[in-house]
Amino acid sequence: GVKASGRNSIAFFEPQMQVVVSQRLQLEAELRQALLEGEFRLHYQPQVDARTQRITGAEALLRWQHSETGLTGPGTFMHVLEESGMILEAGHWVLHEACSFVARLLDRELIAADQFSLSINISPRQFRQANFVAQVGAAIAQHQIPVQCLKLEITESIMIHNISDTVEKMNELRDMGIRFAIDDFGTGYSSLSYLKRLPVDLLKIDQSFINDCTRDSNDAEIVRAIIVMARSLNMELIAEGVETAEQLAFLQQQECHTYQGFYFSRAVREEAFCALLGSPVNWAG
Ligand code: C2E
Ligand code: MG
Ligand code: MG
Ligand code: MG
Repeated sequence: GVKASGRNSIAFFEPQMQVVVSQRLQLEAELRQALLEGEFRLHYQPQVDARTQRITGAEALLRWQHSETGLTGPGTFMHVLEESGMILEAGHWVLHEACSFVARLLDRELIAADQFSLSINISPRQFRQANFVAQVGAAIAQHQIPVQCLKLEITESIMIHNISDTVEKMNELRDMGIRFAIDDFGTGYSSLSYLKRLPVDLLKIDQSFINDCTRDSNDAEIVRAIIVMARSLNMELIAEGVETAEQLAFLQQQECHTYQGFYFSRAVREEAFCALLGSPVNWAG
């Protein structure tokens, strides 16, 4: 490739860069197709409570069932959805699919409305849409689910943009009965004063801390601090990414009682999730 230098000159791509760009464009085109053809799926990862030894909820996680390459997780495509803006359409689909899933669980009497909530991930861009509150309201009304069955997961990064607009929107949704979780908690840099202003019900301790809490005393201290903080702010807690019996024991000792992680189950398809709802949680991992 030709590479020109200087201020106003055009820089040509190196051949490898052309490959990267065209792969990216192809992925974007395939994702657009995936939206049209209905290739997205939701998988559900249980959240469990040690005190009752029951499933208290689940997180809906996006998957892509590609016609040729099979099932892939968001790690390979979420950034493209975000950057292209397709996350708005995908997020809208997720919202409706999640609500219709809850409606099916209620219909089949696999859950009780006051004992189960489904969490969905909301990207900052999706949240910032002018009509986001109305979208959520419409989805709940259309699928006729009790509002307390839905939880929205946002990350600390949502506070970077226009905090007062964020708080206002969250309050509107809160007034409707929607609850909020802060996802990946501890990885952003939200100050306690911000956190106090947000109508948040639940903190999800980021899995990076859980991962090492039995090996690294710094991570153990961070987990302890988050647990103490959540308690003093009167927030619920979930530890995310629990994989081992040692991590579970540590968390129980710190009086964190709700978990989500491979130790219990990965995210699974709807039918497999329904089967989990009907059987006791496997505390032996
Ligand atoms: P997240 O919201 O923090 O979701 C938790 C991720 O951790 C999931 O990865 C889940 O499979 C994984 N995980 C749960 N337990 C364990 C464990 O014990 N060990 C390990 N190693 N991993 C565990 P997944 O499904 O690949 O999702 C990755 C991220 O993609 C999510 O992180 C979330 O930020 C994003 N995402 C997923 N679905 C959606 C969606 O519908 N909308 C938006 N905006 N983002 C989504
Ligand atoms: Mg999440
Ligand atoms: Mg997380
Ligand atoms: Mg994450």
